[in-house]
Amino acid sequence: MTADEFDGALLRRGDAGYEDARRATMWNAFVPDRFPDVIVQAATEQDAVRAVRLARDEGLRIGVRSGGHSWAGNHVRDGGMLLDVSRLDEVTVNPASSRATVGPGRAGTSLLEELAEHDLFFPGGHCVGVCVGGYLLQGGFGWNGRVHGPACQSVEAIDVVTAEGELVRADATQHADLYWAARGAGPGFFGVVTRFHVRVYPLPKVIANGVYLYPLDVLEELFTWAAEIGPRVARTMELMLLIHRDEAGEVEIAVTAPTLVDTDEEADEVLAILESCPVRDRARLAMPNLRVTMADLFAGSHAIYPDEHRYVADNMWTHAPVADLLPGIRAIAESMPPAPSHFLWMNWDPAGGPPREDMAFSVEDTTYLAMYGVWEDPALDDARVDWATSHMRAMSPLASGIQLADENLGRRPAKFVSDANLARLDEIRAAYDPDGRFHPWMGRL
Ligand SMILES: Cc1cc2nc3c(=O)[nH]c(=O)nc-3n(C[C@H](O)[C@H](O)[C@H](O)COP(=O)(O)OP(=O)(O)OC[C@H]3O[C@@H](n4cnc5c(N)ncnc54)[C@H](O)[C@@H]3O)c2cc1C
Repeated sequence: MTADEFDGALLRRGDAGYEDARRATMWNAFVPDRFPDVIVQAATEQDAVRAVRLARDEGLRIGVRSGGHSWAGNHVRDGGMLLDVSRLDEVTVNPASSRATVGPGRAGTSLLEELAEHDLFFPGGHCVGVCVGGYLLQGGFGWNGRVHGPACQSVEAIDVVTAEGELVRADATQHADLYWAARGAGPGFFGVVTRFHVRVYPLPKVIANGVYLYPLDVLEELFTWAAEIGPRVARTMELMLLIHRDEAGEVEIAVTAPTLVDTDEEADEVLAILESCPVRDRARLAMPNLRVTMADLFAGSHAIYPDEHRYVADNMWTHAPVADLLPGIRAIAESMPPAPSHFLWMNWDPAGGPPREDMAFSVEDTTYLAMYGVWEDPALDDARVDWATSHMRAMSPLASGIQLADENLGRRPAKFVSDANLARLDEIRAAYDPDGRFHPWMGRL
């Protein structure tokens, strides 16, 4: 098959434009030294079908890319085909049925804007540029995710190109195993999703936030308080604690609590709990009750995840007592690299949320901890990778598993679905992808 047969482009290693195309698939400027043999930039759904058939004919393994926001560059592998479906980004909205379809290359940010025009909403990811392709396959922890559950739970069907090169619809009644797998397999999914069919929700009318900045010396009191109130905060509040260095280089702890509700009274009621902090008088800055917009929330998260930087992420779910976590959190704080590197503590508390459906996604816990190393100088690559990876490794005895959103599996294999679900994923892969056409996860336990 030649380049002319694609609506988009096909580049082989050595072709002019190959290296630019490879690098452009990565949002993280820390581009791996891995080189696929062929890159296909699919312009249409039929291109995705053609690409899989080409890979089958030439015996190539496939890595799929939608928004390229995998921290680890999971789609960039040595040899085989890199299939870039970022151009498949169409959205259709059906307000009457509260349903939408969305192409994998559509950023959550822009999906939310489109839905807002119809007074609708979806629990899209927190950051600019994250596309629904990778986001929905791995779970999806987004705005008001504590209300709606992981975003993959709102996926009712997918259109997917199988390893055989057939375009099929998978849902609860047809190709049900493939549908089950697609909701949680993340970067180990064995097909090319060309469209998601999702449930959408009424747009929250009031967006509020409470923001506080505390000094490092109250770390223990602050995290103990946050863990204590965690189960009591409203589902509409995403309580997060972020440790980072301020402009002067001092480590500080930010409390932020985006709250998406319907009335001002509800927002006031939900945010009031933030004032109960026993070290409240130590806050250097307190904005207990702000009214903001989605654009403000996205701008806030973009500030700590700037473009054109090098990144490493690692993470863990835990329900360990906060006293057991504190030494590890303090060690992370005291070794914090310059901003915008940071550590995140997030109150998730799945037990209080909507019942989970039967799907591959199966590891989550009360509290989420994640580390993000962010830097520009390539000379710091090893140090930053080691910072994130070794702290999470040290704390792993307290973990129940990891999120695939911030996976670092190539360097630190960890549990990301239940053992039973991993076994079932292996069985479904053997049925749908017997020749191993699609790359598996870069590591697993
Ligand atoms: C700045 C930033 C902020 C983030 N914020 C959040 C957040 O708030 N919540 C959250 O849950 N996650 C978050 N993430 C993690 C993000 O959701 C995952 O990295 C996700 O995989 C990104 O999706 P993508 O399509 O942009 O990435 P890609 O790198 O394109 O995809 C990741 C992997 O998913 C698979 N894949 C992607 N598309 C397809 C497809 N169409 N068919 C088959 N397989 C496919 C491939 O294996 C691919 O390697 C964030 C990541 C970054 C970089």
